[in-house]
Amino acid sequence: IGYLRFDRKYEVLRLHRNASIQITLFLIIAIITIWFTLQFSLKKWVINPIRTVSEIIETDDSEKIHLLNKTSDEFREVGRLFRKHILQKEELVKAKEKAEESDRLKSAFLANMSHEIRTPMNSIIGFTGLLKEPDLSDEQREKYSSLIEEAGERMLNIISDLIAISRVESGQEEVKVSLFNLNELLDYNYILFRNSAMHKGIELHVVKKEETSKVNINSDRDKVYTILTNLLSNALKYTKTGSVVFGYGLADNSVKFYVKDTGIGIPSDKIDTIFNRFVQADQSYTKSYEGTGLGLPISKAYAEMLGGKIWVESEPGKGSCFYFTIKNIAV
Ligand code: ADP
Repeated sequence: IGYLRFDRKYEVLRLHRNASIQITLFLIIAIITIWFTLQFSLKKWVINPIRTVSEIIETDDSEKIHLLNKTSDEFREVGRLFRKHILQKEELVKAKEKAEESDRLKSAFLANMSHEIRTPMNSIIGFTGLLKEPDLSDEQREKYSSLIEEAGERMLNIISDLIAISRVESGQEEVKVSLFNLNELLDYNYILFRNSAMHKGIELHVVKKEETSKVNINSDRDKVYTILTNLLSNALKYTKTGSVVFGYGLADNSVKFYVKDTGIGIPSDKIDTIFNRFVQADQSYTKSYEGTGLGLPISKAYAEMLGGKIWVESEPGKGSCFYFTIKNIAV
């Protein structure tokens, strides 16, 4: 019994031990892999997008919104909302700037308007007082009367412009179509401005290329006349020497008018804004030309009502050429 010895191999136990080690190793590797994968996914799909969102909120940097496109649907939606929000904000800022600009222009307009009204009023009151002087010569009396007349006309023009712009803005202005002759309208304007051009020493030319019998058109004569007179009086006002030429050309079913001068011209940064109401190229208090800044906006509104448009080509110091078109309205 003392020598009795068991020598039995526990093969199963050995296999079991090896398998346990392998399973444990596998489990450890699996846990590590899952941990890293979780970390990576969490970072990519949650932590980074949240960080981007908070950066966008803090800095308002729209450049970063595209980073959200590479993430999940929810964050893409957040990105879309951000984009919408930023667009709305930009629109609000623009609207605010426009309102402030409009407010500023209105104040400048009111200041300018009170100057524009006061000047002819002062002339009328002053020269009427002088007319009462007993020992006036005939020559003096005539001079004072014509100065009063001139100031009265200026007042009337300002009031007409104010009424015209308020009718346009309130939508009360209507198009009254009638048949009229273009050459006759141009002649009428030529006669109207001939004297003032002569007094200033400026050549005034009217160009009528078409035969009078062929240029009857249907449109609102008063409005075409107002646009032309506005452009011609501006051309003469802003030209010291040289010439003013005006005329028209016919295109299919429309007419293109032009008024060209050799005057002071318009700076390129003002070209688009002078057609807006109350805007003058020179808005300083010391400006050298009288005017309310309403002539061009009225002309623009009228040209558009007549199915056309108005624009200008100009070079400072060399002159300007204003164009406007109107449609031959079918009746
Ligand atoms: P205003 O009563 O001041 O003439 P308008 O609306 O007719 O008002 O014109 C607006 C501005 O456009 C003017 O103040 C002037 O600065 C500019 N302008 C208009 N016509 C001419 C022109 N022919 N040459 C140069 N500047 C012009």
